[in-house]
Amino acid sequence: MRLSGRVALVTGGSRGIGRAICEALADAGAAVAINYQGSERAAREVAREIAEAGGIADIFQADVSERDAVQRMKKQVLARFGRVDLLVNNAGITRDRTFVRMDEEAWAAVLSVNLNGVFYCTKAFLDGMLERGYGRIVHISSIVGQIGNLGQANYAAAKAALLGFTKTLAKELATKGITVNAVAPGFIETEMVAAVPEEIRGKIVTQIPMRRLGTPQEVAKAVVFLVSDEASYITGQTLNVNGGMYA
Ligand code: NAP
Repeated sequence: MRLSGRVALVTGGSRGIGRAICEALADAGAAVAINYQGSERAAREVAREIAEAGGIADIFQADVSERDAVQRMKKQVLARFGRVDLLVNNAGITRDRTFVRMDEEAWAAVLSVNLNGVFYCTKAFLDGMLERGYGRIVHISSIVGQIGNLGQANYAAAKAALLGFTKTLAKELATKGITVNAVAPGFIETEMVAAVPEEIRGKIVTQIPMRRLGTPQEVAKAVVFLVSDEASYITGQTLNVNGGMYA
């Protein structure tokens, strides 16, 4: 078991890519703290599935865009598991519309979850990693932060910001036993992409060299690699999981 003895926290672990990451980390032997915002039943289901497979997991409610909620979650996670070695900042939302029609509320909502949420969670758990001289941080960015996408100016700005944050934090922590990397998925089969109209999804698939959407499990495997000892000399990088769409 590559990750046995490690404790992971996955934000937005109740559904989609986050759920697959929780399952893959548990499968590799890590104990998993599953964060969710509103989908308690789904989060419980993920924890139950992991326990049934012989793994260890528990659920923790917090809106990652609220600093106080993240601090409360920190206390609960530390009380339950003692520490967090592997932090996966996965929680994210979209509020798509063309920039001309995008109001300040849609801009702020996406930035506050997708970017400020990463700030609050990383702040909360980095001190423990520094004390122990060990940590793995992975941010789930997006191909949209690399190449842009119609209707997603807010989302693209947040996801591109994560890449700059990844590189800077990686440099600051490189001598501290802590690696910081990003995974940039292309278009992945989750509820987030199911919300995109069928016609547009069809067009997207024609732009993917592999001619299919990715699966949450294919993203999860990249995350497991980056938090494992096999990736010990990899930091500040972005691993693209996109079927060749942006190379
Ligand atoms: P999803 O199916 O919509 O799931 C989103 C997850 O984030 C849910 O578990 C949700 O929890 C959680 N979440 C949302 N707001 C939150 C908040 N304020 N605090 C805590 N948790 C929150 O999305 P997904 O497709 O799996 O996306 C996961 C990540 O991958 C996101 O960062 C997304 O931007 C990124 N990504 C996705 C794709 C794609 O094609 N799907 C591509 C590139 C990048 P609750 O349900 O409990 O609220």
